[in-house]
Amino acid sequence: MRGGWWRLIVTALVVYLIANLVLSYFDQANEPTISYTEFSKQVNDGNVAKIYAKGDSIQGQLRKGQKNPEGGGNYTKFNTERPSFAHDDLWANLTKHNVTVTAEPVVQHRSFLANLLISLAPMLIIVGLWILVARRMRAGLGGAGGMLGRKAPPKPVELVPGEKRTTFEDVAGIDEVEGELNDVVDFLKNPDAYRRMGAKMPRGVLLAGPPGTGKTLLARAVAGEAGVPFFSASASEFIEMIVGVGASRVRELFAEARKVAPSIIFIDEIDTIGRARGGGASMGGHDEREQTLNQILTEMDGFSGSEGVIVIAATNRADILDPALTRPGRFDRIVQVSPPDRGGREAILEIHTREIPLAEDVDLAQVARTTPGMTGADLANLANEAALLAVKRKQERVTQSDMSDALEKVQLGAERPLVMPEEERRRTAYHESGHALLGMLQPGADPVRKITIVPRGRALGVTLSTPDADKYAYTEEYLRGRIIGALGGMAAEHVVYDVITTGSESDLEQVTNIARGMVSRWGMSEEVGRLSALPNDAQQAYGLAAAPQTLDVIDTEMRRIVDECYEEACRKLRDHRGQLDALAQALLANETLEEADAYRIAGITRLTKDLDQ
Ligand code: ADP
Ligand code: MG
Ligand code: ZN
Repeated sequence: MRGGWWRLIVTALVVYLIANLVLSYFDQANEPTISYTEFSKQVNDGNVAKIYAKGDSIQGQLRKGQKNPEGGGNYTKFNTERPSFAHDDLWANLTKHNVTVTAEPVVQHRSFLANLLISLAPMLIIVGLWILVARRMRAGLGGAGGMLGRKAPPKPVELVPGEKRTTFEDVAGIDEVEGELNDVVDFLKNPDAYRRMGAKMPRGVLLAGPPGTGKTLLARAVAGEAGVPFFSASASEFIEMIVGVGASRVRELFAEARKVAPSIIFIDEIDTIGRARGGGASMGGHDEREQTLNQILTEMDGFSGSEGVIVIAATNRADILDPALTRPGRFDRIVQVSPPDRGGREAILEIHTREIPLAEDVDLAQVARTTPGMTGADLANLANEAALLAVKRKQERVTQSDMSDALEKVQLGAERPLVMPEEERRRTAYHESGHALLGMLQPGADPVRKITIVPRGRALGVTLSTPDADKYAYTEEYLRGRIIGALGGMAAEHVVYDVITTGSESDLEQVTNIARGMVSRWGMSEEVGRLSALPNDAQQAYGLAAAPQTLDVIDTEMRRIVDECYEEACRKLRDHRGQLDALAQALLANETLEEADAYRIAGITRLTKDLDQ
């Protein structure tokens, strides 16, 4: 409601000001009040055509426009006031100069009615606006009449005849998820069989997983497989400035879906409205969010379960959802969607290169091996970048080198043409060498794949390390290694030049995140203990989760870990100064070093595990 009131008040103020300005213009514009001296002068000059007097007030009109001596342009009509002590025999003077003295006011004063109307105008405009807003609100709430700003009822994104719908064919790498959704598809295909058995289907399925893992795609595929209408809405669409619209949209959406059941309603990004109620600070639109959420819950409760409408929702943050959403009878089936493993990545790459002509040498299995952690969306993007490169290079087909160049661009960001002063280039070379050397020295760390001092994206240089195989859990040693590696850039600048630059900002962010996780979530600090002391939600205020003493201890422990790691980074770089210099020199000469060269120059033999385990 707050939003609506504010708007109303601001509009009212603006209208009031404008009306006042207009009124004062009408009041003053044409007939200035001139001095009696000026008036007498004009009479004596024979320039006054006629006057009208009432008491000592005089209004009149000149024959020829005159400049107003009191400033402000020319005037022909005027007001003036005759001082009562003036014994100038005005009457004789007027007759002498042929001035008509009329009985009609020269300046038409507005009638009482007109005055009243004009002074009421601002109020009328405000009331009018008020009614408009009120009507819109009612339209939103009750769904009555075609008022301003109303949208057409929701339409299913449906079978355009002849167009191929998304099916499970287009989804890969998440087979277990497909399995879970198969029941849903089966139910939608023949709801009657289930009805006869008296079996009830889940009313809601919640797809939870990181962005880009294919949740939206899956929801479409379910609808496509089942061949039913698919209503899609993003939760943020429901939240509008005007209260009540969200809830009514939800009601309409469900009503339309029921009409054409069996059907699917898909609510994307449901965390925007489904955040736990009453928790944390939320800015504005709070009531609206809550109303919309309540409406969704009400609608889902209203299902009898045999109507054949299934609600699928997607979220990146299942952990922050209101528990009311995941209660039985609502989104009681939660399906985790994870980034694909190596085989999954290969299958996804195959899907996304279906329409791309590939050269003989393209080895998708190899690409899949070098892209751990990438999601379906990343891989789709990678395939597309490779195709774009091939077009730019005027090739017939996409080759393996297009693939690896595209991967470089996706992983490191686009190259930025930037001429760096020699001194900064040198410092960057040492910074990146610091990262790389510590990464190579640390046992069990992700191997260094590439080092470059070509500016890319926001960075002046990049050191890329990726694991050999997918990792699902991390040891404390590994995490410390990551911190040491990330601090390596700063440590190298410190050890070699004894300066600190701004170039380490994102390194430090990464370090802070890892250290915070170790101390407050993964039980890796004796002092804090095996507690999950901070929520896994950066947006939430820390204070809500832990006692102030705990927060102090967390802070101290994070500092301790990072300080220890920094010491170690500096010590190792001093101990291996020769290797650091060699790497930096090679980088300055070549700009970019590949994995094999980097290890050779640093004189470190990499413990290669069998890659095709
Ligand atoms: P999310 O909704 O989880 O953020 P999307 O479904 O929007 O992710 O995925 C974006 C794009 O990435 C899809 O349109 C598709 O091209 C590709 N993609 C993601 N996951 C997969 C997958 N498992 N199989 C095939 N393509 C995928
Ligand atoms: Mg999505
Ligand atoms: Zn760095």
